[in-house]
Amino acid sequence: MNLFLQQLLKLQSLDQMALDSKKQIENIHAEIERIQGKTSQLEAYLTQKQQSMQQQELQYHSNASQLQSLEATLTKQKTRQLSTKKMEEYQALENANADLKRKIEDLENQILTDLDYLETEKKAYMQWVATTQRDLKQLQLREKQLLSAKQSLQTTYVQQCAHVSDFEIHLQDPFYEAYTILRRCGKAFPIIVPIIKGNQCSGCHLSVSGDTVAKATRNTQPQCCENCGRLLFVEQKN
Ligand SMILES: [Zn+2]
Repeated sequence: MNLFLQQLLKLQSLDQMALDSKKQIENIHAEIERIQGKTSQLEAYLTQKQQSMQQQELQYHSNASQLQSLEATLTKQKTRQLSTKKMEEYQALENANADLKRKIEDLENQILTDLDYLETEKKAYMQWVATTQRDLKQLQLREKQLLSAKQSLQTTYVQQCAHVSDFEIHLQDPFYEAYTILRRCGKAFPIIVPIIKGNQCSGCHLSVSGDTVAKATRNTQPQCCENCGRLLFVEQKN
């Protein structure tokens, strides 16, 4: 095989390795972003639930202290009622006390219902918090692992790119020129492919003309596939 082609195949495999690393870095990066999104979503939900739970507890305590104050008022009114001499005043206090007792009863019922609800709710909430915090911990661990994998891959990628540059710095033949044009255009790898059985380009798997096969066999100038534009070569049989 032509030396230029041999070098190109070597360059292509170096390029391919660097490209694989780059792809892996991109995938890891996307995964990290997904995990970060999930983490902040869970954290926001956790805060929201905490606040709602606190709100319910506050409401419960506020009702309880309102109950205490109503009970204190009732006691005071009863004492006043005992010392009153006027029938009218006595009756008015009697009505006010009955009213207060109804309010106290309603509030007691409300507090009992709330307490019941709070206890059930709190149990479920605590369980949920424990599960969520475990999930968060796992997500953080996974993120840490991915960040470290990404970092090491980035180091590898930089080394691979340097290796490619070192290798190609001395290449300057028509085959190499054709390869770099295709690479610059973002042609999908592999860029240089063998012609396989049935005169097919092994890049796009379509047939190439007999003329192209003949030129590629002579191997004096770069030959491209008429269909996909990849560089073609003929594998030598040993
Ligand atoms: Zn092709």
